[in-house]
Amino acid sequence: MRFVNAGGRAALLVDGLVYDLAELSGGDIPGSPMEVVTDHWDRALVLHETGAFGGGAPVEDVHLGPPVPAPHSVFAIGMNYRKHAVEAGLDVRPIPAVFTKFPSSLTGPYDRVVLPQGEGTTDWEAELAFVVGDGGRNIRARDALDHVRGFTVAQDISERFVQMAASNQFSLGKSFDTFCPMGPAIVTLDELENPHDLRITCRVNDVLVQDESTADMIVDIPHLIELLSSVMTLSQGDVCLTGTPSGVGFGRTPPVYLNPGDVVETTIEGVGTMRNVCVAEADLDAPDSG
Ligand code: ZN
Repeated sequence: MRFVNAGGRAALLVDGLVYDLAELSGGDIPGSPMEVVTDHWDRALVLHETGAFGGGAPVEDVHLGPPVPAPHSVFAIGMNYRKHAVEAGLDVRPIPAVFTKFPSSLTGPYDRVVLPQGEGTTDWEAELAFVVGDGGRNIRARDALDHVRGFTVAQDISERFVQMAASNQFSLGKSFDTFCPMGPAIVTLDELENPHDLRITCRVNDVLVQDESTADMIVDIPHLIELLSSVMTLSQGDVCLTGTPSGVGFGRTPPVYLNPGDVVETTIEGVGTMRNVCVAEADLDAPDSG
């Protein structure tokens, strides 16, 4: 199943068409994407199984929001790909760096990324994210995939000056508004052969800047769930970004950062593609030139 947030409505994406779940179910399933992700997921799965779809809209005609618009928590994992740890000049530690992107940073898969005023050191990080289903504490790695709703594409957009100026507390520099594009869809496990064998790429203005496999992750998703749930109670709809491969801008010589007008395209094989255009914060209120 591919679940989307179609203009604020819970919907299924099937063969390029978007179907409103409330309409499909005759009002049985609520319209709110967040309610479906938390409390009505199984009903959506059952409806999807029937395959009885009618009246879909072409996905190009719909504004897609983040498929989980208001999660309780958005976790992110630092240094979870070996080559990225090397380019960042950091050792792989026994426990990975875990930080948060505050949920207010979420935006849709084709929405603009707003580059804040300041140092001009905003960077890209393509990431595979998972969405928590049944949460709880002390989930064992061997059971962990049963606690996952599905997978989606995310960008861990990062303002490096703010990230590093705050010492080892990354969350501020990772949480400017629009710094967490996510989508287009939550893709359930049965649609993927293996979430740890997917090509993950990032292109900036059509130049391939990141290109690895999720097989290169240091701590895999089951063990991330075991780690997180050993500390806190995971909630339905929680999102976790699982780390970025090598090829980010600050690891280059000289470093490369995002500029207004840049187009960031993030693809994970079998999961989807996002396309986000960067815009300067200073230009936000400028009259639309057309
Ligand atoms: Zn990241």
